Amino acid sequence: MARTSIDVLRQHIYDICEGHDITVVDGSSYNARAWKKNREIRIRPVKTSNTYAVALHEIGHILGKWQSKPRLIAEAGAWLWARQHALEWNDQMESKLRKSLTSYLKWARLRQHRKRPPVIPTPTSHPQFWQVFYWNEWWGKSVIKR
Ligand SMILES: [Zn+2]
Repeated sequence: MARTSIDVLRQHIYDICEGHDITVVDGSSYNARAWKKNREIRIRPVKTSNTYAVALHEIGHILGKWQSKPRLIAEAGAWLWARQHALEWNDQMESKLRKSLTSYLKWARLRQHRKRPPVIPTPTSHPQFWQVFYWNEWWGKSVIKR
């Protein structure tokens, strides 16, 4: 578990949402989601560093950059926001980020035959995606404390 108490992390999510007028909907049995227009996120209760990371990621879909860019870039932007604003970011959270972005890469690759295939970011077309993806190797340490 995170070094920071989970109560502090849970409160952090509520504080951000209150400060930015974001409604939190309890989504215990659903996948997490964000609705930027309605400033609403649906998340599971924050009980682990994993659910904390996902909650921050969903907020990142509202407050983060690149949200009107292609899907995978928007996903990376939401994770970047999560990592930048987390009170603590540990290996589990970094691996959640990787897994999530990897699954979106697979999603995009499987749809390349479509009429309008999803954009697959390459290091030259969308370096920002890969900077988020490989950030830990380039600049990071396994645990970041702020
Ligand atoms: Zn997302």
